[in-house]
Amino acid sequence: MASIFSLIAAGQIPSYKIAEDENYYAFLDINPLAKGHTLVIPKKEVDYIFDLDEQTYAGLWAFAKKVAEGIKAAIPCKRVGVAVLGMEVPHAHIHLVPLQTEGDLNFRNKKLSLTPEEFNEIAQKIAAAI
Ligand code: 5GP
Repeated sequence: MASIFSLIAAGQIPSYKIAEDENYYAFLDINPLAKGHTLVIPKKEVDYIFDLDEQTYAGLWAFAKKVAEGIKAAIPCKRVGVAVLGMEVPHAHIHLVPLQTEGDLNFRNKKLSLTPEEFNEIAQKIAAAI
């Protein structure tokens, strides 16, 4: 069965899309640690990021860099933090989180509750900055 992220990349489950190319897809995390918290995935479905083939792995980070630059330009933050967990969804992904302080990257923090309008506005801002 396809992973939830494969269904998102295929447009079968809605998402707040940030960017896409033939091999990669970026979209807002539905339970964000901060406004602009984004997930970047390879369309190729592999659970563990370090099991990706070299080309897909390198391309994923290159794509994430472009997205992070867009986040930094669109969302007021000191830096864009990076995390790879994969404890919940078995489809490799990189978290990009706008940071004001080190504590903003603590996954035990309470997640933000945003309206669809807020998600849309954030996604559009970042997408326009890429
Ligand atoms: P991880 O697998 O890295 O531990 O966590 C998975 C992340 O994916 C979580 O931050 C969670 O909020 C996010 N997530 C899980 N399901 C969905 C979904 O259906 N849509 C979106 N946009 N994010 C999701």
